[in-house]
Amino acid sequence: MTRDPIADLRRIAFLLERANEATHRVRAFRTAANTLAALPSGELAERVRDRTLRELAGVGDVTARCVVESLAGEEPVYLRRLLATEGVDLDAEATALRTALRGDCHTHSDWSDGGSPIEEMALAAVELGHEYLVLTDHSPRLKVARGLTASRLRQQLDHVAQLNAALPEGFRILTGIEVDILADGSLDQEEELLARLDVVVGSVHSGLGDDRAKMTRRMLTAIANPHLDILGHCTGRMVSSRPAGVTGPGDRGHRARTRAESDFDADAVFAACAAHDTAVEINSRPERQDPPKRLIRRALEAGCRFAINTDAHAPGQLDWQRFGCERAARCGVPADRVINTWTADDLLTWAHR
Ligand SMILES: [Zn+2]
Ligand SMILES: [Zn+2]
Repeated sequence: MTRDPIADLRRIAFLLERANEATHRVRAFRTAANTLAALPSGELAERVRDRTLRELAGVGDVTARCVVESLAGEEPVYLRRLLATEGVDLDAEATALRTALRGDCHTHSDWSDGGSPIEEMALAAVELGHEYLVLTDHSPRLKVARGLTASRLRQQLDHVAQLNAALPEGFRILTGIEVDILADGSLDQEEELLARLDVVVGSVHSGLGDDRAKMTRRMLTAIANPHLDILGHCTGRMVSSRPAGVTGPGDRGHRARTRAESDFDADAVFAACAAHDTAVEINSRPERQDPPKRLIRRALEAGCRFAINTDAHAPGQLDWQRFGCERAARCGVPADRVINTWTADDLLTWAHR
């Protein structure tokens, strides 16, 4: 079957526009289509054969890959992913996903850098209809976020046990941690504690500028750690300023800062997540939106599970799951791939897999 690569690029741009994607992403496809349309006949096929497409102004890695696939008669993977969610009522899909969520696996209290006591976070979660809230305060090395030492975490575990005894029937606080993934990929807390916690989220908060090979190695080591359940905000990007009144690791005094994605081999990382059954977090925070949708789609294709988390640092932020659900719905993530659609018991069984 013959395909028209220029038509495919334009089709992708159209679908991206209709899905209300970022303008620069749409423009990349339209620019590439225009560049290729202006070539003398025969030159496109020649450049694909000689692998010189990228030398053309306006043609990047992603658009070049689409052209190569299209000229080979295949539907470009990028187009296939977009078509998978075409015609789907995304509002309805996002709502269905949000309704299916029974809890939140990434939240902070005033024991680390959150703004409220654990009980207030828990009561807000009850009001949202959650069946559980995983409390994941920071680990010791993240001093800027008042990360918990082993002994403070032990105190917190006792405190949570007391709180649970007083909370309404049908709701519980699950214990957890957002543990730093250190430079060598090890996790920043005592092994015995990591084994005792209900859910372990691991995130990179330092050395975000590590080169690709180092960051990939670091992440693969963490993912292979049997204690790690969820890979938190995997690219570390900041797409916009932090909402007013919210402080967080590394962000003090830099409210307007954005941060690029860290560089790692996403295919290797997601393949490892799928192999070790480590869930990939879809972080709902508006300033993070991490991972970006193109990576959510790749993780989905790799067979990963997901956790749609708020990373809430205040009770009102627990309602941000909706944002993560919208992003997940746009990428076609089905509810049965999302671990926090499970009951607390099923989640615990999986976490101790
Ligand atoms: Zn974090
Ligand atoms: Zn966090």
